[in-house]
Amino acid sequence: MSAPVIRFNDLSYSYGEGVLRRQVLFGLTERINAGEVVIVKGPSGSGKTTLLSLLGALRGLQTGQVNILDHRLDGASKDEQLAVRREIGFVFQLHNLIEALTATQNLIMALRLHPEIENPLEVAHRTLEAVGLKHAFELHPQQFSGGERQRVAIARALVGGPKIVLADEPTASLDGVTGHTIVKMLRGLANEQGTAVLLVTHDVRILDVADRILTLQDGRFVEGSDDV
Ligand code: ADP
Ligand code: MG
Repeated sequence: MSAPVIRFNDLSYSYGEGVLRRQVLFGLTERINAGEVVIVKGPSGSGKTTLLSLLGALRGLQTGQVNILDHRLDGASKDEQLAVRREIGFVFQLHNLIEALTATQNLIMALRLHPEIENPLEVAHRTLEAVGLKHAFELHPQQFSGGERQRVAIARALVGGPKIVLADEPTASLDGVTGHTIVKMLRGLANEQGTAVLLVTHDVRILDVADRILTLQDGRFVEGSDDV
């Protein structure tokens, strides 16, 4: 529960060029430790997804420093960025499940990034079981409810045993009870495996699961207010 696994310092980001250029993140600095669950809350448009995509090496940095585990992202080559992504479990806002594949196959697909895992089928099944989907190994995404789809997405993020999970609005489109169950699952993982979980959301119903809550407003961290 001590070493920071995510560190960023003076992180800023702008979209667009020339007169269309618009800054959306302003000098963000924070560190997140192993085993910690940190929620970044903030209204739509405050920069949450942009922040996650920078930390996950899905988008190139412009200014500021980011360290993910032992990797430094500023100045990182494409190969280094790939190496960083392999160490992160992503839960996206849209589930991005492959509709033509079963739940099990979706997980096995993700495990192709982890050739060191020798028994992918067994690991996929064990992970689905851990999120309560033992009955659904052979079902396709369109056969799931919204909550089940999100659980498959979470299982897929977890299947490679990541030290970091980045989750973008994982409870969007879920009812309160299901959303809470999903987030508690991530909380359990953080406790058991020392995984750092960084979750961005505007869903105030799940804030109690966090060790720490950061509030993003117009691209800046502000002192916590409870009204978003
Ligand atoms: P959030 O996830 O908190 O809703 P985003 O990080 O998606 O916020 O967006 C922050 C701001 O950046 C918004 O004003 C949004 O319109 C803008 N933005 C996001 N993505 C792009 C993009 N690809 N091109 C231009 N502007 C963008
Ligand atoms: Mg977003």
